[in-house]
Amino acid sequence: MSKEAKEKNGVMEKIVSLCKRRGFVFPSCEIYGGLANAYGYGPYGAELKNNIKQLWWKKFVHDREDIVGIDGPILLHPKLWEASGHTEGFNDALVDCKECKKRFRADHLVEEFTGQDLEGQLEEMTKIIQAEIKCPECGKQNWTEARNLNMMFKTEMNGISEAVYLRPETAGAIFIEFKNIVDSLRPKIPFGIAQIGKAFRNEIVAKNFIFRLREFEQMEIEYFIDPEVDWEPLFEQWLQWQEEFALELGIKSNQLRRYEHPKDKLSHYSKKTVDTEFAFPFGTRGYEELFGLAHRADFDLTQHAKFSGQKLEYFDAVNNRRFVPHVLEPTVGLDRLVFASLVAAYAEEEVKGGKRVVLKFPVKIAPVKVAILPLSKKEELTKPARELFNNLKTHFICEYDETQSIGKRYRRQDEIGTPYCVTVDFETLTDQAVTVRDRDTMEQERVKIGELEVYLKKKLA
Ligand code: ATP
Repeated sequence: MSKEAKEKNGVMEKIVSLCKRRGFVFPSCEIYGGLANAYGYGPYGAELKNNIKQLWWKKFVHDREDIVGIDGPILLHPKLWEASGHTEGFNDALVDCKECKKRFRADHLVEEFTGQDLEGQLEEMTKIIQAEIKCPECGKQNWTEARNLNMMFKTEMNGISEAVYLRPETAGAIFIEFKNIVDSLRPKIPFGIAQIGKAFRNEIVAKNFIFRLREFEQMEIEYFIDPEVDWEPLFEQWLQWQEEFALELGIKSNQLRRYEHPKDKLSHYSKKTVDTEFAFPFGTRGYEELFGLAHRADFDLTQHAKFSGQKLEYFDAVNNRRFVPHVLEPTVGLDRLVFASLVAAYAEEEVKGGKRVVLKFPVKIAPVKVAILPLSKKEELTKPARELFNNLKTHFICEYDETQSIGKRYRRQDEIGTPYCVTVDFETLTDQAVTVRDRDTMEQERVKIGELEVYLKKKLA
């Protein structure tokens, strides 16, 4: 393993362990031995994830006049997935090791070992794997052929004879509401429909913590445009808006890079697809997909019109034109954003000969904003501290903690990324002031209790 890979893996392990230790992310069903690399969010992870969701909704729905938000169902008409091509073609290539029975993504194996991108070319992949690659698990070289596996989760619905699927992406639920949105809201083109919600993919291998899950959340927008306008500047704008959003979460520009899909790898309808990748701390590629942006032309609306028998068009009253809009699709995985924010926030620092671990989240996404800590458990301190907590918690997300030494409590708050700790000490009883400690600088300031709310509001604005 290269030095760089080892370093990256070190960070990965530290983050996974911090997440479990401090209640951000837990392996799912642990008491039953775990379930196939599934994860669930603990109290701080749920707050962090919700904060990211709300920021995204604010930036892309509330702050804009041209985008509306919906919340569509997870179970959708089976015809929808025929129209979108998922029933037929939402496949990944798998290959099994006949010796240890481990299963792998065939395209990932080939890419990892040869650097070649052979997505979709089953025969080529089989040849290379069988001739050149040893099983990463057992070291033997005895493979099945590479074959396709559909990634949709099948289920049943009372009253429907066909199989119903858990949606493998949120976009489908957006396209089927295109007509309803146009009829009920009469939006002016260009306009977008946004949605946040769960998606399910029966990934061949779920791995790398919360990067590749079988149940995950997406934040997607279908942005409908006039097919006659020059779309390239708008495409570039969307890339910038995606990057801006990442920066708001504390991700640094040098942790991001763009990857444009080569023309010969694009779906036949796509004019351009660009992924914004993040320097996730695993793997050999260095960067992995965080956001996607695709020009999907009129493929989806045309397909849904064909399969449903409904007209899915836009009428431009100003120019008296009727047309099927084209669409730009900016998408991002919420779990990957949570992961990237944790990586970007993670820091280890030397303090007074010791080490502290701190999550330097931007205030907006920090799970807890203020911790109230009485210096001792004596009632003369816990009483005013509780009063302070009861007042402050109506303004900010606060935590009250009176256990362990003050040093340990600071470390704990650093590890969950709390920007400010407020300590009530014995002097408080005489000077009516408290000590406010800043997470990043560790500087402490004495602030009058009467001025504390305004002080914190300014700091946390
Ligand atoms: P990948 O190439 O990593 O499998 P994809 O190109 O299949 O991703 P899309 O279909 O474009 O992904 O999905 C939109 C977004 O959803 C991705 O940019 C990614 O952030 C997120 N995503 C996709 N698959 C998963 C997954 N299994 N777990 C978590 N997030 C995912």
